[in-house]
Amino acid sequence: MSDFSSSYLEIEPRELVKHLLRQAGQGERDSVNPADFLEFLGLEHLSFDFNLELPDDAKATIGGAKPRALISFDDRLVATDSGMREPRRRFSVLHEIGHFILPSHEHKLYVCDDKGLSFATRLTLEREASEFAADLLFQGDRFALEANSQPVSASVVKVLAEKYRASFEAAARRLVEKNFKPCMLVVFKEGPTTADVNIDKTPTWSVRYCIASAMFKTRYFEKVFGTVAPDVVVAVTQTGRDIADSCVSEVSIRSSVDSKATQFQAEFFSNTWNIFCLLTPHG
Ligand SMILES: [Zn+2]
Repeated sequence: MSDFSSSYLEIEPRELVKHLLRQAGQGERDSVNPADFLEFLGLEHLSFDFNLELPDDAKATIGGAKPRALISFDDRLVATDSGMREPRRRFSVLHEIGHFILPSHEHKLYVCDDKGLSFATRLTLEREASEFAADLLFQGDRFALEANSQPVSASVVKVLAEKYRASFEAAARRLVEKNFKPCMLVVFKEGPTTADVNIDKTPTWSVRYCIASAMFKTRYFEKVFGTVAPDVVVAVTQTGRDIADSCVSEVSIRSSVDSKATQFQAEFFSNTWNIFCLLTPHG
């Protein structure tokens, strides 16, 4: 029998998401309740200060970055760091449920840190768990149908983030990822700057990562580089400014392949920690 090999039926993550949403009774809700999933799966949840109470050997597994959430299969326990804000905590619980449910994830202990839980992670298991979490949070195709019936704008990001009780970053990302129209989300971070000590200097915000819709990638490009104009930084990061109160401008982006410039509409907005930009074709 040396020429034969066996395999088992692998269930697609999207099927698992559908099943879990149905079984945990989430069909009629706008925003999912992580507690219902935990109960359905027979998992306990604890929230405590990881820095104070996590054993050193658990902290040692992650080298440097802050541990934020964990799942212990043996204890059937999900724990989250009490220092996290609500949308991130909800997302982290769903992320740990991803490790628990996904068949290719080893059934043991996961301690997930800031980096692993961020959308920019390059680690496969962390990325898979976060994709699963986003599918649960945005209820499979439901968010996508809604997003596609509305314009690509900061105010739509705000409405959908509030409806699904997701972070603005998660909602903006999903809006673009699942969009049939050509659009790109550029996320900027505050760069290494002298503004920490020189308060008269405007901080530099440079590209952290970009996400483009399928049609945007096909028509234009996958990545942009650059910084946010200082007057836009000052405007959108003003204390107390609403996230949907955006700055719209027209930008010209030159292709690195043929040097051809294309005009885009750029809508900038900020949730204090990030500056976001939605790029759509001009006109
Ligand atoms: Zn993880």
